[in-house]
Amino acid sequence: MLTSGFKKMLAELLGERVGFDVPMAAHTSFKVGGPADALAAPADSRQLIDLMVMLEDSGVDWFVLGGGTNLLVKDSGIRGVVISLKQGFSKIKAEKTGRDSVLVHAGAGARLSALCRYALENNLAGMNFALGIPGTVGGAVIMNAGTGLGTMESVLAGIDVLYVPDKPGTVHGSRVCFDYRGLVWDDSIITEGGRAPIILAGRFELEPAGDRDQSAEAESLQAWRRQSQPTGLSAGCVFKNPSPQIPAGKLIDQAGLKGLQIGDAQVSEVHANFIVNLGRASASDILRLTDTVRQKVLKAHGVELEPEIKIIGE
Ligand SMILES: Cc1cc2nc3c(=O)[nH]c(=O)nc-3n(C[C@H](O)[C@H](O)[C@H](O)COP(=O)(O)OP(=O)(O)OC[C@H]3O[C@@H](n4cnc5c(N)ncnc54)[C@H](O)[C@@H]3O)c2cc1C
Repeated sequence: MLTSGFKKMLAELLGERVGFDVPMAAHTSFKVGGPADALAAPADSRQLIDLMVMLEDSGVDWFVLGGGTNLLVKDSGIRGVVISLKQGFSKIKAEKTGRDSVLVHAGAGARLSALCRYALENNLAGMNFALGIPGTVGGAVIMNAGTGLGTMESVLAGIDVLYVPDKPGTVHGSRVCFDYRGLVWDDSIITEGGRAPIILAGRFELEPAGDRDQSAEAESLQAWRRQSQPTGLSAGCVFKNPSPQIPAGKLIDQAGLKGLQIGDAQVSEVHANFIVNLGRASASDILRLTDTVRQKVLKAHGVELEPEIKIIGE
């Protein structure tokens, strides 16, 4: 819980840009999750730095929220301050234009779909793999989001970061490693307190598409998504694929778990690696269903599934 003195300091710094006891259900695609003690949306880097210094000085915990599309926030919510960059860090612009490539700078709080649209509108190739992935640029970089057609790793040239609490910097793409649905920071990048930096923006190296028909490709990718994924409330794939040859969804389907329901949480009938909130699910319904699926897949196939979604809060 935040003290009243700390709340007052937050309100003085951020004015209307901070809310207290904010239900996270309103900020996640699962539409579940209890209240965050505070939700702060700094207007710019200066305000973010002042906020981070304040948080570090007072030892208050914090969490950076993207679009909340890969998160399961537990029912009692999040203690400390949740930081959203969606308002102050969402500009997208071409930074450098060469003959063979264009460097596009996108704020961490921009929607990934806006970056894809920017690429299409400017006839730049490279982002189509990400069409239809919800969430923000920052969340997509942290998750190395992607599909069979590509991942963020394939286009990311560099990252603007804030070394908490107060040192902005740039990390070249070669200094971060990616793995399947994750980014691994080089040890030298982790700050003294053991926290990874906050991503402020990404630089994406895209190619002029020339005569290639990008919109036809985009339409067929969107159609594939509409056909193969549920449209209900979810956080995308719940589990990582154990390997490219063994999709988690296939293991769950073969274990006969499609349609399995706990409370209002259900293993999707359309794609077995999605859990959908049928309307009134709680985080604990989803967690119990996730555990049940994991146990049954282990029993049926001897394979331990690892969550792709991030489970946070208390
Ligand atoms: C219908 C649906 C379909 C999906 N399809 C796909 C798919 O095809 N491929 C795929 O990869 N994913 C998919 N997802 C999952 C999800 O959309 C991606 O993982 C997405 O990139 C998460 O971005 P986000 O902004 O919502 O991040 P969040 O869920 O808000 O956060 C994810 C993690 O990133 C961290 N984070 C976010 N922003 C920052 C920042 N600026 N600095 C530091 N840390 C940060 C958070 O702290 C958290 O740890 C899907 C989800 C849904 C609901």
